[in-house]
Amino acid sequence: MNKVKETVLEINLVHLTHNYNYLKSKLQPEVKLLAVVKAAGYGSDAVIIARHLEKIGVDYFAVAYVSEGIALREAGIKTPILVLHPQPVNFASAIKYNLEPNIYSARILKEFIKVAESENQKGYPVHLKFNTGLNRLGFWENDVDYIMDALEATESIKIQSILSHLAASEDHNEKEFTITQINSFKKTSSEIVKRLGYEPIVHQCNTSGILNYPEAHFTMVRTGIGLYGYGNEDIYDRHLKPVASLKSVISQIHTLEPGETLGYNRAYTSDGYTKTATIPLGHADGIGRHYGNKNGFFTVNGQKAFIVGNVCMDMIMIDITGIDCKEGDEVIIFDHTDTAASIAENAGTISYELLTAISPRVKRVVIDNN
Ligand SMILES: *Cc1c(COP(=O)(O)O)cnc(C)c1O
Repeated sequence: MNKVKETVLEINLVHLTHNYNYLKSKLQPEVKLLAVVKAAGYGSDAVIIARHLEKIGVDYFAVAYVSEGIALREAGIKTPILVLHPQPVNFASAIKYNLEPNIYSARILKEFIKVAESENQKGYPVHLKFNTGLNRLGFWENDVDYIMDALEATESIKIQSILSHLAASEDHNEKEFTITQINSFKKTSSEIVKRLGYEPIVHQCNTSGILNYPEAHFTMVRTGIGLYGYGNEDIYDRHLKPVASLKSVISQIHTLEPGETLGYNRAYTSDGYTKTATIPLGHADGIGRHYGNKNGFFTVNGQKAFIVGNVCMDMIMIDITGIDCKEGDEVIIFDHTDTAASIAENAGTISYELLTAISPRVKRVVIDNN
């Protein structure tokens, strides 16, 4: 692969196809796959990711907010889009852009019906979310009567899917809790299906749910991190390939004498002769200050180089003492060998936070063959 000449986030569509096919291979052929492309496709680029997945046949997309769905529609995405966390103020634009709201409470249900009726909608597709233990968003099991009454009183909406979300599907120690969630959802979803008289899509699994709970695939599964190929679990590293790689270059090399300091607030003091490299990447690009002062490391010519001093807005300095390198050389922040999970973990966070923080000013470069 070509070496980069500035800070870039490479988006590897070959890896995306690989991950998609791997996850599909875990599903019965009739089970649909929904791709979660919220938060700029977990920090990569939602439009690039969604266009590729649409081309290779994904069934559904989900975003968190209506604004993210509008951006996909404006880029020409035609596949159905579920909006996981909509607000009533955006319901009219959701309808205008054919975005399907996740209905998670009586207030949201009432508000959406009001807007759908005033826009003369008939059978507008909505998704019913049940809380089975995550305690974040969703109706409770005992809200079913209320929901059915509300549905009988209007023709404006129809239930396109019924969903719930697992709290700890990646954690084998929480198996008992997860099974309780699955059983609760089975009960509620089958009751709704029985009373509706038509069959909505039913889905509960996220990526680790797909891998660990095949009995809970129902008729669709949702995956985010599985498509992007990052995670803190072994399974991701063994079978999935990271779609995004963040790379930069060495702008300048300095040699510090013993006792010399570096960076703002003179946060680093050299105890011997220290060779440092300055990189065009800072907290405004998404590498937060908590990576500073040796909590984070990058890779230069195969060797670990720890961040020294404070992370600046547009620059980071790394310790390259003993590393054979020169100005203009490539620096790997994360890729398939030095994973986002490992650098995030070293700085006390998780790969999702590192990835979703990469700011829009970092150039996105698409790789579509190897
Ligand atoms: C973000 C999200 C997902 C995707 O989870 P992954 O672990 O990344 O697969 C699925 N469902 C809901 C409701 C989400 O918010």
